[in-house]
Amino acid sequence: MKPPPFEYAAARSVEETVRLLADGGGDAKVLAGGQSLLPLLNMRLARPALLVDVNRVPGLDRIEIDGAVSVGALVRQADALASPELAAAAPVLHDALRHVGHVTTRSRGTIGGSIAHADPAAELAAALLALDGTVTATSARGERTIPAAKLFLGPFTTSLEPGELLTSVTLPRGEKRPYGFAELARREGDFALAGVCLLPEPARIVLFGVAGAPMRAAEAEQALEAGAPPAEVAELAIRGLDPVSDVHADGAYRRRVTAVLVRRAIEQAAARRG
Ligand code: FAD
Repeated sequence: MKPPPFEYAAARSVEETVRLLADGGGDAKVLAGGQSLLPLLNMRLARPALLVDVNRVPGLDRIEIDGAVSVGALVRQADALASPELAAAAPVLHDALRHVGHVTTRSRGTIGGSIAHADPAAELAAALLALDGTVTATSARGERTIPAAKLFLGPFTTSLEPGELLTSVTLPRGEKRPYGFAELARREGDFALAGVCLLPEPARIVLFGVAGAPMRAAEAEQALEAGAPPAEVAELAIRGLDPVSDVHADGAYRRRVTAVLVRRAIEQAAARRG
């Protein structure tokens, strides 16, 4: 499979990137690690007229930890996973990263690319939503901060506007917050058939891989907050859930698995609470 013809530009700054994206109109795409975009091009599922390669743009590959945790969009997933400081300050994100793809894809894939790609089964998106994180994006129109709750709109669809470059992801520090992160994939590194990211205080239960985007299970969160038994929280989490059936699993199976994963995540969080 070969990609359709496209123009290529290697940007050397954020300013040049947003100018190139603006010049390219809605037909320009950011090229980061290429781990999702290039397969889409090769399968002719994406046909941008212009690729703006941001891999040489300085300043987007930093991890900054002070009152909050800020991860640059170009931080490679492997580098984030290898950071002991990030593991300590953002354990949920770090745990999610362990489930993202393979060593090879993580060596090129970026934090910003995973968030912008918005695969419904993406672990980082679920973690960002569960942690009430935000992203910063910039364009020729200026910079803005988007809360995760307003970012993921549907399958491979975010509220990032054409011409916007995601520059960083920001999360609250979480050294002391118990959590649970559980997923089921056919093989290690495969996309999740279903997954759960759960924090008990304040209660956040995010399901992923079972809807068009990561989703909060609000009723189950209230039950968790009220101290309901795990089995009751799990049943509430899947109430009304109607996952897709595909070649990998049918929807009923994904629902049953999700209930098991919710219980597992509650047990993990309890064990971390000590
Ligand atoms: P790219 O592929 O370069 O871009 C992806 C999309 O995001 C494009 O539309 C691009 O225009 C846009 N984009 C990228 N960066 C920015 C930015 N800074 N601002 C605005 N738009 C941007 N992912 C998972 O979550 N879980 C998995 O289990 C998993 N398994 C995988 C297994 C395989 C074999 C492969 C090949 C990929 C897998 N992935 C998985 C996807 C992988 O994590 C990708 O790295 C990620 O989805 C995209 O990151 P990237 O940097 O490669 O982005």
